[in-house]
Amino acid sequence: MTKSRYDAIVIGGGVVGLGVALEISRRFPRLRLLLLEKEDRVGRHQSGHNSGVIHSGVYYKPGSLKARLCVTGAAAMVEFCREHGIAHEVCGKVIVAIHADELPRLDDLRKRGEANGLTGLRLIGPEELREIEPHASGLQALVVPSTGITDYAVVCEKYAELISASGGTIFTSAAAIGVRRLSNEIVVETSRGAFATTSLINCAGLFSDHIARMAGDDPGVMIVPFRGEYYDLTPERASLVRALIYPVPDPRFPFLGVHFTRRITGKVDAGPNAVLALAREGYRHRDINLRDLASSLAFPGFWRMARQHWRNGLDEWHRSLSKAAFVRALQRLLPEVRENDLVPGGSGVRAQALKPDGTLVDDFEFVPSGKVLHVLNVPSPAATASLTIGKAIVDTASETMGLG
Ligand SMILES: Cc1cc2nc3c(=O)[nH]c(=O)nc-3n(C[C@H](O)[C@H](O)[C@H](O)COP(=O)(O)OP(=O)(O)OC[C@H]3O[C@@H](n4cnc5c(N)ncnc54)[C@H](O)[C@@H]3O)c2cc1C
Repeated sequence: MTKSRYDAIVIGGGVVGLGVALEISRRFPRLRLLLLEKEDRVGRHQSGHNSGVIHSGVYYKPGSLKARLCVTGAAAMVEFCREHGIAHEVCGKVIVAIHADELPRLDDLRKRGEANGLTGLRLIGPEELREIEPHASGLQALVVPSTGITDYAVVCEKYAELISASGGTIFTSAAAIGVRRLSNEIVVETSRGAFATTSLINCAGLFSDHIARMAGDDPGVMIVPFRGEYYDLTPERASLVRALIYPVPDPRFPFLGVHFTRRITGKVDAGPNAVLALAREGYRHRDINLRDLASSLAFPGFWRMARQHWRNGLDEWHRSLSKAAFVRALQRLLPEVRENDLVPGGSGVRAQALKPDGTLVDDFEFVPSGKVLHVLNVPSPAATASLTIGKAIVDTASETMGLG
């Protein structure tokens, strides 16, 4: 039996689902809005297990959704944190080239950043790098002054508070387990009963492809879970890092390479790597979900990806299982760091969409289908860009689904 009726239901209480719900509550305050989250509180998965960086937008292809929504989103995130008293800092970062063959790519990043509208980017030599980060070493570095840090778990809590304050409903411990599309409404079955709605927005992160299928749509992609593992610098050695020190990323992968991040709490962590996880919510090596594994192995794109990237995948597993190998990767940026300086930190699992041809989807992807909209690829920098992603999704939902 249907419990209640809403104008819009959002599935997923991560930073993206909350960003969407916040935008709906601001733009259409009269709509009856419900957000469903399967965990007992919001922000429990990617949004609460990330690096906490407010990315500047330097990495992304000019004109892409990532580039546009990150640059505007970063400014909006800094303003949001300021307005709501959320701890944050625009500390800047350095991207460091170690080998000569990385120099052209570093300059390409500078050009990309400028094309995306960033200001203040500059290439510096080893001496100036040591003035900014006294323990880092490299041939050249790109200074990115607009990068910042915050805590996205706190941001999620604030989004939720604002949504509730403007009349939206958030149900936690409410897992969507079925979606029925009727002629005049959509019924979402959950572990807390059934709810009817006119419009449905799927922001289920690691399960967004499952929810799409539940709603009768072919998502066209499979979500692959990539675990990112961290070590923490011991408090005595945290002074090795002032702010953020990154390598030049490998353009073949959507990940940035292990780096050092000073958190807003002052703690410094190293990582994350990118290891294929054996469960969608596989935060530890021993987390294995046979259903997740079987669905990965049955997807043709998985084998195509494996054929293309097996060597890199094995290297990631090696660095994951061997602290010495992980530390060697970090020593490229910070030669003084030693195994004893690092203790195991947390981990997060990225939801990365994979196409049947084996390519990893690079840009953000939102796919409307009638009165349902699926958010199928919102990896980093989606936490940074969550306010502007919310706006972009609500624009799409208004145009294609008549939301509002
Ligand atoms: C290791 C790591 C480091 C990162 N670093 C950064 C960074 O520094 N800066 C940055 O901008 N981005 C970063 N990101 C990316 C960023 O965290 C994600 O892009 C963002 O959190 C995605 O938000 P989301 O709401 O889509 O996903 P999630 O936070 O995963 O939220 C999805 C929600 O849907 C819920 N859900 C799933 N299925 C159901 C269901 N059936 N019913 C109800 N609810 C359901 C889940 O419980 C979850 O809470 C990082 C990510 C990781 C993993």
